Amino acid sequence: MTETTHPATSTARAYGAPAKTVPLEPLRIERRELGPKDVRIDIRFCGICHSDIHFTRGEWGRVPYPAIPGHEIAGVVAEVGAEVSGFAPGDRVGVGCMVNSCRECENCQRGEEQYCIPGNTQTYGSVDRDGTITYGGYSDHVVVDEDFVLRIPDGLELDVAAPLLCAGVTTYSPLRRWGAGPGTQVAVVGLGGLGHMAVKIAKAMGAEVTVLSQSLRKKEDGLRLGATGYYATSDEETFDALAGRFDLIVNTVSAKLEIGRFLELLRTDGTLVNVGAPPEALPVPAFSLIMQRRSFAGSLIGSIAETQEMLDFCAEHGIAADIERISADQINDAWERVLRSDVRYRFVIDTSTLPA
Ligand code: NAP
Ligand code: ZN
Repeated sequence: MTETTHPATSTARAYGAPAKTVPLEPLRIERRELGPKDVRIDIRFCGICHSDIHFTRGEWGRVPYPAIPGHEIAGVVAEVGAEVSGFAPGDRVGVGCMVNSCRECENCQRGEEQYCIPGNTQTYGSVDRDGTITYGGYSDHVVVDEDFVLRIPDGLELDVAAPLLCAGVTTYSPLRRWGAGPGTQVAVVGLGGLGHMAVKIAKAMGAEVTVLSQSLRKKEDGLRLGATGYYATSDEETFDALAGRFDLIVNTVSAKLEIGRFLELLRTDGTLVNVGAPPEALPVPAFSLIMQRRSFAGSLIGSIAETQEMLDFCAEHGIAADIERISADQINDAWERVLRSDVRYRFVIDTSTLPA
């Protein structure tokens, strides 16, 4: 173990948005001094989540610019603080959407830090417990409390593991909670970053999986990823053919959707879990719920323990993300492609390409 000798903050190379309406550009940021419980991670790869775009463009509210997004971080431990017990230099690690929480509220106490009642500290754009603003993983290194660092199993390469830190756990958590498994019919709405992980994970859990996409353009991919059914939501007949079919529907769509039409696809007692986070409201027709005792639910990422469980599950089942590796100067183009639903199925930034 390396003793903490870092006397001061460290300057990181990063890519981010200096203001709301401008493209991302190379920036320099300061990372905090390595504290006794901190791990300094050399970031090797960072996935591009649609949340990065919602956040940076101010769709979810006020942003403390400059915004450095990125919460699908995979890298290698460079240095650990004096009191760190779980990690050592050289370890392969990940960081997801949160880097701290109050640790005292009832949700933190029972290990569900993502639902921290005063609010968890997000990996980017949050005020950290020490009063500084957090900056995400479009960067060469990060300093994180060891309690929020995940171990990446040996069987997973770092680039394809990075998207598991958000897309993986955000879909794993509701699939587990609502019992996806043998004998259950699961539908995944939207075949993007989250959607393609939902298909792989639900299939590995033993469920029968159907994709509901805007078109049949990606049908071959969906079947290859593990779905047995693939339908276009632009085709009216889809909603007649699938009425009352599913036990569980996971909606990963980043835009407003007519939720009532999808609720009608649930059988009695079925649940539609929303993980997509468009800024608009999603109006729910009362009768779609009450006639068949259906539920409409939401889910936010997963806890730290659950994220580790998901990583181990993926390694065990040989699952990781399907990615397109890009360099830092391709980030703006990649964002435009995400907005056009033209991604197969996660862009991952190789951080060694960040300008010096
Ligand atoms: P993504 O890769 O862009 O995938 C979203 C998919 O939704 C697209 O590939 C597309 O699939 C479908 N879609 C897009 N626009 C649509 C429209 N107008 N109508 C119908 N379908 C549309 O995004 P992502 O990174 O997976 O993230 C998805 C959403 O989840 C975002 O809103 C993100 O902020 C949110 N999110 C939530 C959590 C959480 O904890 N709850 C965590 C991470 C992300 P098809 O081409 O197949 O139709
Ligand atoms: Zn995300």
